[in-house]
Amino acid sequence: MSHNDCIFCKIIEGKIPSSKVFENENVLAFKDLHPQASKHFLFVHKSHTRNINEMVLANSSHIAEVFSAIQQFSSQEKLDQSGFRIVTNLGPDAGQTVFHTHFHLLGGEPLKGFGR
Ligand code: 5GP
Ligand code: ZN
Repeated sequence: MSHNDCIFCKIIEGKIPSSKVFENENVLAFKDLHPQASKHFLFVHKSHTRNINEMVLANSSHIAEVFSAIQQFSSQEKLDQSGFRIVTNLGPDAGQTVFHTHFHLLGGEPLKGFGR
């Protein structure tokens, strides 16, 4: 189900352009508009939920579908060799700005944070 006024639903429907890097029946990945690392992609399930907790309650198998896409893409692109990080933000303390559940894939260079 798409959601009115959701920017990522519009990207999924092709109503807003994006640089797609991976797509299957359930999942889409595209380049982040404001990259925080030399490789920065957003993985979204095509079903609209507002955040990871809502996704778990709505249909927890969607998490497996997203992470299966991440596994396929990261191995195809050999990002599993150099390494990468997955981040999902929920709510104000995490700075969530888009309320369609998404997973940031960050990599392509040594990443700062988490003790580095
Ligand atoms: P959040 O802060 O909610 O975890 O992440 C939202 C991300 O979506 C940000 O990194 C932002 O750069 C990205 N973003 C926001 N609007 C668009 C858009 O229209 N297209 C693309 N490709 N990325 C977007
Ligand atoms: Zn949406």
